[in-house]
Amino acid sequence: MKHFALSIVAAGAAALSSFAALYGDPPDDRHAWAVHDMNRPRPPVVTPGAAPGQPPSDAIILFDGSSLDEWVSDKDGSPCPWRIVDGAMEVVKGKGYIRTKRAFGDCQLHIEWRTPTVIEGTGQGRGNSGVFLMGTYELQVLDSYENDTYADGQAGSIYAENPPLVNASRKPGEWQSYDIVFHQPKWEGDRLVRPGSITVFHNGVLVQDHWLFEGTSTHRRRTQPKQHEPKLPLKLQDHGNPVQFRNIWIREIPDYEGDYTTGPYRRPEAIRAKRAEIAAQIRADADKMLTAGNTVEGMRRLWESLIYEVQTSTLQRCVDMATSYAREVAALPASEAEKRKGQILGVMGDLEYLVRFEIAPAMKAPHDEIRRKADELGWLKKK
Ligand code: MG
Repeated sequence: MKHFALSIVAAGAAALSSFAALYGDPPDDRHAWAVHDMNRPRPPVVTPGAAPGQPPSDAIILFDGSSLDEWVSDKDGSPCPWRIVDGAMEVVKGKGYIRTKRAFGDCQLHIEWRTPTVIEGTGQGRGNSGVFLMGTYELQVLDSYENDTYADGQAGSIYAENPPLVNASRKPGEWQSYDIVFHQPKWEGDRLVRPGSITVFHNGVLVQDHWLFEGTSTHRRRTQPKQHEPKLPLKLQDHGNPVQFRNIWIREIPDYEGDYTTGPYRRPEAIRAKRAEIAAQIRADADKMLTAGNTVEGMRRLWESLIYEVQTSTLQRCVDMATSYAREVAALPASEAEKRKGQILGVMGDLEYLVRFEIAPAMKAPHDEIRRKADELGWLKKK
């Protein structure tokens, strides 16, 4: 019994690779691709870091302990005035904020930091620095280990806006990490259509869960969202304490609304356009196969295009091809049909799909004709 079940699974997998385009629920107003669609592009391959926290292959390294080359003084763009101490970058009091030479928008950022082992100062005066996404939105850096201050200013807070969910601070002098997912606010003209957002893990613990920025970071005051360039440098704060940083890397990530076929704000007109684009590609692909003499593969490829977009002329071509294929199959002697059993059943499955999902109801006649033949040959009997 177990063996039987396994062989069914294997047969299902084989079917998936050969007729995957006409397999899962078809595209619709909110989805450009079918479920399990083999035409859907595969995501780019990224080699992850050797250990958690290590940069993946597509990360931009902003500091690896060896050089301050990616950074400049925020004041005047002169060479980075902070110093390197034992592979860490350290704030030099009074030298001011530093910023990256490159500019970034939406990103994934990893950064490690530690506050001085010897405690000096209290509250906001103890190990204070900050990570300023786009130079504008501050994720607070502070020694918050048994150090009381206002909640919206402790480590892991979005400064002056939102406290961290929990205090996941390590002791002074111990390395800590932030893993950040950041999206900038989105504007259409001067209308804010979506606030910026930030998700932060502090030492692996979730402390900001998709916080929606109210404004831009400042001190004491509530602020309003402000329009800015789509890419801006990352900044680190000099708050007068010798806080250290290491292992800083960033990955630019897409706007999650940018791909309207997967994001939460899917727009019917964008989906339609995407489907038309996929269909055109598949039609071109099918034509190449047909020209090369791959008649059946080319025909089936052309049928696939219908699930994305039904062009009247293409539909007619598809129905004509199906009709002549069905005629040919109906006329085959049993021995010849047996040799092509896999192909014929595959074609029948395609046509059944196109009829069932009302993509091409005109395929019913050729489908039925092939099905009659299959039945005659005993292929449809349940074993
Ligand atoms: Mg700060």
